[in-house]
Amino acid sequence: MKLIFIGPPGAGKGTQAVIAAKEYDIAHISTGDMLRAELKAKSVLGSEAQGYIDRGELVPDGIIINMVKNRINENDCKNGYLLDGFPRTIAQAEELLSFAKIDRVINLEVPVETLIRRISARWLCKECGAAYNLPSPGEKVCAACGAALYQREDDKAKTVKNRLAVYQAQTAPLIEYFSKKGLLSTVNGDRSVEMVHQDIVSAVNGNNE
Ligand code: AMP
Repeated sequence: MKLIFIGPPGAGKGTQAVIAAKEYDIAHISTGDMLRAELKAKSVLGSEAQGYIDRGELVPDGIIINMVKNRINENDCKNGYLLDGFPRTIAQAEELLSFAKIDRVINLEVPVETLIRRISARWLCKECGAAYNLPSPGEKVCAACGAALYQREDDKAKTVKNRLAVYQAQTAPLIEYFSKKGLLSTVNGDRSVEMVHQDIVSAVNGNNE
């Protein structure tokens, strides 16, 4: 099983991807998480990507495609994988489809007001990466592992505006691209985590094209 989740920042791709990857027993591959791990490790790839991420721009296709190609050759991808945040450009999609047979693309649709509200309330665990929606101040510790929570630098208002514009200009064209290939299912992501998950399962199982 090979799945792709696309959607603007804050659409819930990461949250839904974790649940779906577990359900289908496939690897969850988030290019954003991989890049943040490279930044943390202060690797060469991390230093190449840093400026783009800070500005809310896309990291160049060549870097990302290479990173994904290496990742999907790892052992845990034998049963399949769920790509979360990749592809984000037509060039990335064409490259991916040249070597992978994708079963379904889930497009998570969420109104822009909800995206902005969710992103400003998004807190992540420094250790295990778990994501929380915490609109009001309180104790910011991870319920899963007890480590401190933090907000992403690129979740700050100014960068978010750019990320949304970049999504519209460079990633949204993938909706028509995958639709024409008969691979796309659009799911209303502006509902509870459980309801969205149920629609994703129906789409993947072929009941909701
Ligand atoms: P995300 O966590 O998916 O929101 O990604 C965070 C940032 O990583 C993005 O704003 C981009 O700068 C970069 N990034 C993640 N995935 C990709 C991709 N497929 N292509 C280019 N840049 C990416």
